[in-house]
Amino acid sequence: MSNFDYDLFVIGAGSGGVRASRIAASHGARVAVAEDYRVGGTCVIRGCVPKKLLVYGAHFAEDLKDARHFGWDVPDCKFDWDRLRDNVQAEVTRLEGLYGQTLENHKVTVFKTRATIAGPQKVRLADGTELTAERILVATGGWPHVPEFPGSEHAITSNEVFHLDKLPKRVVIAGGGYIANEFAGIFNEFGSKVTIVNRGDTILRGYDEQIRDRLLQISMTKGIDFKFNAPFEKIVQNDDGTLTVHLGGCEPIVADAVLVAAGRVPNTKGVGLEEVGVDLDDHGAIKVDESNQSSVPSIYAVGDVTNRIQLTPVAIREGQAFADSVFGGKPTVVDYQNVPSAVFSHPPIGAVGMTEAEARNKLGSIRVYTSDFRAMKNVLAGRNERALYKMVVNAATDQVVGLHMIGPDAPEILQAAAIAVKAGLTKADFDNTVALHPSMAEELVLLK
Ligand code: NDP
Repeated sequence: MSNFDYDLFVIGAGSGGVRASRIAASHGARVAVAEDYRVGGTCVIRGCVPKKLLVYGAHFAEDLKDARHFGWDVPDCKFDWDRLRDNVQAEVTRLEGLYGQTLENHKVTVFKTRATIAGPQKVRLADGTELTAERILVATGGWPHVPEFPGSEHAITSNEVFHLDKLPKRVVIAGGGYIANEFAGIFNEFGSKVTIVNRGDTILRGYDEQIRDRLLQISMTKGIDFKFNAPFEKIVQNDDGTLTVHLGGCEPIVADAVLVAAGRVPNTKGVGLEEVGVDLDDHGAIKVDESNQSSVPSIYAVGDVTNRIQLTPVAIREGQAFADSVFGGKPTVVDYQNVPSAVFSHPPIGAVGMTEAEARNKLGSIRVYTSDFRAMKNVLAGRNERALYKMVVNAATDQVVGLHMIGPDAPEILQAAAIAVKAGLTKADFDNTVALHPSMAEELVLLK
């Protein structure tokens, strides 16, 4: 028995923190976790999970229209935001309970309060209680970044968007990344007038250019407006409660809600990190080595607070690797190569590996295959929306080094195909696989 109150004290019960707590406890460690909001963190409470449920809800707008082409008499339908919002929140609460249950089942002590670091092996709870731990894991995640401009207090972020009192008729969304494009699709399908306002001229930086262009083109066809090179100047609240958004280089826009989706910053302020000598990078992220250890040997960090790849499954891997390495005697390093990702836009995007531009820069000689097609379902529905699949191949080895897709169910298909890319399979391996007909995924083995 050590002289510490706990073997491990985890700050933050999100995806990374919960996984690390549970696994460390299963290896026999005495673990406590502190969470000042709700167990589950961003992903479960105000991110991936409620967002995906809204995406499902939004997609019915198209399904109900398409159903008529498939023989169903669908009367004009009305959408009820309050009902969906409340159902989604009920599901979030259910999942929060399950996460709490998991911690309890593993005998992890949960402090539902804020904790800060009071020493290399000491934490302080909000009521002043001090507890010691041989190791501390910081898993405090990230927080929406709201750039400073007059009237920014009138804007909401992804934290608030799930709780809106009513569906805004007109929404301005600042940013051109994941959250902006996902919520543009959601609100547009619900019938709101959506304008995406971006400081640059690129959406979804980091994704393959052709795929981004296709999303932009489809989004515009669906009625979403885009303003590029239009930095926010100010937001003014009008007497009737509406908001006027003033932008550089274009006319002001009147809206009922303004959503800022300008990236997320690591949650390191006020945690007590610098005071004990934990090094942060220029973005305020905790600097860690490949074993998730910070510059203070007893303090570790996983997930968005380290700003490596801001994705839930990556945080989970990091939490697992930390617990297995430190408490399970199984040294594990997370492999960041070929991490698949998706944008749950309308239609969604899935991608893994190098974009065409990256592969050209890194490998020089590449081959690119594309399939530009209209999904069978869209054809019958009279929906003029084309999917695009793209494969990037290393010409020297025939290895598939990137897959990029936009179209119905692209993330579902991509997850399975990512196994092949991760395993280093070749274009010939894809070609040797017999097509599964009729499916959209078969395009992947028929690329010419
Ligand atoms: P992103 O990093 O995806 O996009 C941020 C956008 O905001 C970019 O268009 C960026 O422009 C712009 N921006 C950045 N700083 C400023 C600024 N100071 N003023 C104006 N515009 C600015 O961030 P999101 O907020 O959309 O999402 C945060 C993170 O959450 C993502 O990076 C992702 O890791 C994660 N996430 C993942 C999802 C998924 O897996 N499906 C879904 C939602 C979120 P520029 O391109 O010029 O830099």
